Amino acid sequence: MLSKEAFSREDLAGFDYQGQRVRLVGPQTGIWRVKAFSEAAISIVTAYVPEGGRRPYEDAVGVDGMLRYKWRGTNPKTADNVWLRSAMQLQLPLVWFMGIGYRDGSKTQEFVPQFPVWLVAEEPEEQQFVVSIDESQKYVGNSASAEVIEISRRYNERIVRTRHHQPLFRAAVLHAYQRRCAICKLPFAELLDAAHIKSDAEGGAAVVTNGLALCKIHHGAFDNNIIGITPDYRVKVRESVLATFDGPTLQHSIKEMDGELLRQLPHSRNSRPDRDLLAERYVRFLAAQ
Ligand SMILES: [Zn+2]
Repeated sequence: MLSKEAFSREDLAGFDYQGQRVRLVGPQTGIWRVKAFSEAAISIVTAYVPEGGRRPYEDAVGVDGMLRYKWRGTNPKTADNVWLRSAMQLQLPLVWFMGIGYRDGSKTQEFVPQFPVWLVAEEPEEQQFVVSIDESQKYVGNSASAEVIEISRRYNERIVRTRHHQPLFRAAVLHAYQRRCAICKLPFAELLDAAHIKSDAEGGAAVVTNGLALCKIHHGAFDNNIIGITPDYRVKVRESVLATFDGPTLQHSIKEMDGELLRQLPHSRNSRPDRDLLAERYVRFLAAQ
């Protein structure tokens, strides 16, 4: 259905459905329905907020490990909130468009879709809905034992991490680096990863400033301390590797990078790698020599 990786609101304004032009998201708002088809919402949007910016809506994770989506405003009877409630009552799947950054040189936001998602409960006191991103999350029990609640919380957290936060992290990092490796500028998204500077397991956040777009070779080399990156964005190659002689891959892809500055960085300073996280990581690179 949608072949590009990221879309602007404009891209989503003229979607062809059964010979009709259908808008998949509102021109500005977060909650959208297609008037001709339904009284229920079909899509929700979470706008991109630059690193360090204040988010108008905090789509947080609840104590049950599931995601939340805020009402529009504070009035439960606002049309947008009524459409959301209809989608929940009718158990209709929605598309969730998540903002990942600005289109180059503009203030046009780009979004990646998550589909399907369902609204499975409403929390009026917090003015939000509970969002399920997986079939298995659609049935939320409230009479379970503490043990079952704990198991399901952990399960939900894992689903949210692997199916929501990680794909978003990848999309946002690749977008920020214009789909090129930070070290060698290789421009093939299929061969690129969003590498963590501080790993997920060590509590590193899934934010662009804790990421680097790296090709498979440089990701592997970075993770295994064959390559280190200094806090001032310079590439260092392990001494023992520099002293090794082999074919062109080692020569050009690894050894010749020693001492070079990162060749691809995000345009926006706020999205560039966090120097403190790099420093912490670089100490480990040096210790591994
Ligand atoms: Zn590379």
